Amino acid sequence: MTQKQIVVIGGGVVGVCTAYFLAEAGHDVAVIERHHNVAQESSFAHAGIVAPDGIGPWAAPGMPRLVLRQMLRNEAPVLLRARPNRTLWRWAQRWMDECQLDRFRINVERMQRIGAYSRDVLRAMRDHYQIDYERSDGVLQVFRTAQDVRMAQPMLDWMAENEIPHKVLDPDAARAVEPALGTEAPFVSAVHLPRDEAGNCPLFAKRLRHIAASIGVQFFFTSRVESLNSHAGRVALMVDGQEFSADAVVIAAGMDSIPLLQPLGIHVPLYPVRGYSLTASIKNFDQTPSGAVYDEAYKAAVVRLGGRMRVSGLAEVGTPSPKLREAALRTLIKVGSDWFPQTANYVTASVWTGVQPMLPDGPPLLGGTPLRNVYINLGHGSSGWAMAAGSGKVVADLISGRSPDIDLDGLTLARYG
Ligand SMILES: Cc1cc2nc3c(=O)[nH]c(=O)nc-3n(C[C@H](O)[C@H](O)[C@H](O)COP(=O)(O)OP(=O)(O)OC[C@H]3O[C@@H](n4cnc5c(N)ncnc54)[C@H](O)[C@@H]3O)c2cc1C
Repeated sequence: MTQKQIVVIGGGVVGVCTAYFLAEAGHDVAVIERHHNVAQESSFAHAGIVAPDGIGPWAAPGMPRLVLRQMLRNEAPVLLRARPNRTLWRWAQRWMDECQLDRFRINVERMQRIGAYSRDVLRAMRDHYQIDYERSDGVLQVFRTAQDVRMAQPMLDWMAENEIPHKVLDPDAARAVEPALGTEAPFVSAVHLPRDEAGNCPLFAKRLRHIAASIGVQFFFTSRVESLNSHAGRVALMVDGQEFSADAVVIAAGMDSIPLLQPLGIHVPLYPVRGYSLTASIKNFDQTPSGAVYDEAYKAAVVRLGGRMRVSGLAEVGTPSPKLREAALRTLIKVGSDWFPQTANYVTASVWTGVQPMLPDGPPLLGGTPLRNVYINLGHGSSGWAMAAGSGKVVADLISGRSPDIDLDGLTLARYG
């Protein structure tokens, strides 16, 4: 393998994993990140669930009707808040096409392929470097109503057909799995996914940053890539008014990958889907969850991260402003208080909002572009932490001229023509 000089744009969890695997493969790697540290944007305070067995796209049967029905409800878990415009219209049309059952099943398979691989890669890194990232085992999906179960049925069918380890539980059996579950909130059933887990994503990214630096990755913080150009086998980057060059570049800049790619003639249909989280100190350690709980009705997760509880979720398509929305916060307080009422005071929690860089179909885009030395690692939507380690390894393998360990059909730019 020829050693290359490679720049990774973006120090989110996806960029840090990519940089680590590139350096491990023997390349000379620099990460350029506009913040002062890694994992400061979408990777910062999200739910933390790593659930390859439960991974699936937002584009699912029944979702368009659910979004329409809830459009006028301020507390709705899924909201369309953007003013109609051509980009949104085209994205939404594509998204609706992907909600057909046959398309949903194709997208689930693609996401679970990279998700399952990513779990193996993450485990190997964790064991090798003994990385502690406040992990907990198991995810319990709870269904408040029969309607929630109906919405999840295509996914439950998929799990059964593909022999994914899971248990469908009645409320008593669910409480046996998760004894701290509150008794006030009624629910009709639950599904336990024992192989899935949750953990502190920014803590992992920061630990991996130091490991990557120890094998040669250079991190340039508070530096912004303004543009890039591919010419004569090299990539020229404009960083804060200064020009740099490299043999290849990986764009892992979340939503901001769009303005970097568009001038190169590369169009990716990413759209921002905003979500929120609350993080509160645990006040009662006798009432903590053993694993993560995912509330299907509110599309929100409740997770223990060390000494803190995090409630995270909701999906607002196209909310441009990072302003915190009172109704969204009320919903998260309700979810936390319903499932683990004695564990923390959610009203005094610290609040975060971030966006999921969402493609209309769901699976991420990994690997090459029409420009020989420009690569992408983006569009991981609501599962970027769950897919980061495997995505980083795959992209590093491709750049190093090695065959990735998994089939990449449906996971590259080729699927958009
Ligand atoms: C509420 C919520 C809950 C979520 N829950 C989960 C979950 O439970 N499990 C899960 O797997 N995923 C979850 N996600 C999704 C996950 O957060 C994202 O998929 C993931 O963080 C994306 O990582 P990234 O590295 O691609 O993007 P980011 O973390 O956003 O990183 C991109 C980086 O690029 C930098 N950058 C951009 N442009 C430039 C530039 N021009 N120059 C220099 N730097 C630049 C940014 O500063 C940023 O640090 C959730 C997201 C939200 C919003």
